[in-house]
Order: sequence, then C-alpha cells, then structure tokens
Amino acid sequence: MLPESFDLDFSDDDLNRYSRHILLPEVGAVGQAKLRESSVLIVGAGGLGSPVALYLAAAGVGRIGLVDDDRVELSNLQRQILFDSDDIGQAKVASAEKRLSALNPQIEIVTYSLRADATTLPELIGSYDLVCDGCDNFATRYAVADCSWAQDKTLISGAVQRFEGTLSTFSPRSGGPCYRCLYPDADETTALSCGQAGIFGAVTGVIGTLMATEALKELLSLGKGLTGRVLVWSALDASFRSFDLPPDPACSCCGRGAL
Ligand SMILES: [Zn+2]
Repeated sequence: MLPESFDLDFSDDDLNRYSRHILLPEVGAVGQAKLRESSVLIVGAGGLGSPVALYLAAAGVGRIGLVDDDRVELSNLQRQILFDSDDIGQAKVASAEKRLSALNPQIEIVTYSLRADATTLPELIGSYDLVCDGCDNFATRYAVADCSWAQDKTLISGAVQRFEGTLSTFSPRSGGPCYRCLYPDADETTALSCGQAGIFGAVTGVIGTLMATEALKELLSLGKGLTGRVLVWSALDASFRSFDLPPDPACSCCGRGAL
C-alpha cells in the first residue's frame, strides 16, 4: 500500500541520480518514490553494516538509522569500507554519517552512538520500516531479533566467519520462522568473533551486499525473498547453497514456547 501522500515528483537531479533504477520496470518512478518514503535501521556499522549502509544510501532509502557504539580502529579497515585511515579514533556512526551524506545528501541519516540491547532497541526499532542486523555477537543478535519480532518488523540478518557467510530474512507477518528457530540456544562462549577467528574481508562485502539487496527487495515487494530460507556463501568453494528453515513449533519467540 502506498501512503496517501505518495509523491512522484522528482527533481532533474533525482531523475538522473536514480535513472538506472527508474529504467527497471520492476522499480520505476513508483518504486523509487517508495524507497524515498522508506526507513531502515542498521544495527552495527562494521563489515556487514558498511555495504548495507552504502547501498541503501546510494539507492535513495529516505531515512537510514545506524546504531553502533564503537570507534574506528586500524584493524577495521581491512573490511569496513565505510571508513578510511583518517577516521581512526572517530566514533563509527559519526564517520559513517559523513560518508553517507557525501554519497547522497538528499537522504536523512540518523545516528545512535549507543550499545544495541534489549533496553535501547525497542524505542529505536519502532520508527523504522525494516531492520538489518550486521552485529558481531549473539547477545545483540537475539535482542535485535526479539525486538524486531515483537514490533512486527521484517529483519534481514547476516553473519560471517572466516571464509563463509549466511543470511536470512525473518518476517513476523509470515508467522515464522524467526531468528530463534535458526539459533534456539547459541552459546556466546563458544562463538568466535572476527578478532578471534579471522575474517576474509571481502566475504563481509558479499554478505552485506546481499543483505542490502534483500532489504531493497522487501521494501519494494520484489521477487522471492529469504523468508523461510537460509542462504550460505562459501568463498573457498565459490558457491552458494540454501536450505529451508521451517518454523519451530516449540520456539520460545514465535512458537508455542513463546512467553
Ligand atoms: Zn521462532
């Protein structure tokens, strides 16, 4: 459903900026206007959040929220393409805002320099259409997933480790599955961070770009999404595979086990 105030007016510059989108019959001026009316919250401005934010900003998503409480470190630059050497020591969200505004001055960038958790997220998520999670730990992932589900927001979730990455889409309106159907009881103590396990930098680019693609598809209701499926990319095999993820009837979030 398009909002009543849906505005198809584009300036000449906008028509030029988005011309390759507008040329696509599946997007067109209506789709581009829909992106301008859309909002996405990105949790984590790191290896995954970087390409997500850059592609959503380039695509003209009207309002992009970024949550991260870290500062840019030299070891981030191997994969976090939002930042360059001059940003070292700066708050990630401040550097990201500068970069994204330079890329597309016509969109609104909202930054939250805070830790995403069960206390802070509920207030943030409510004002966005869709959530992209590219954070690096299970505690935050569960908080993002639970809050998104509770507030009926579609969540695009990506993760990477070493030479491999995965992504999926969780849509409350579909009834399930949710993130906890995929990871019912992940143990933080056995999960390795990028700093511990290592990460082949470009893998974050592949998975982050797929997340941006799926987010744009969801906003535009285009094609077949990843609800009920998990996509896995292996860089070493140069291969994609996917498997079906049925809802878990006993799930503590979306199933009978829900509190
Ligand atoms: Zn579930």
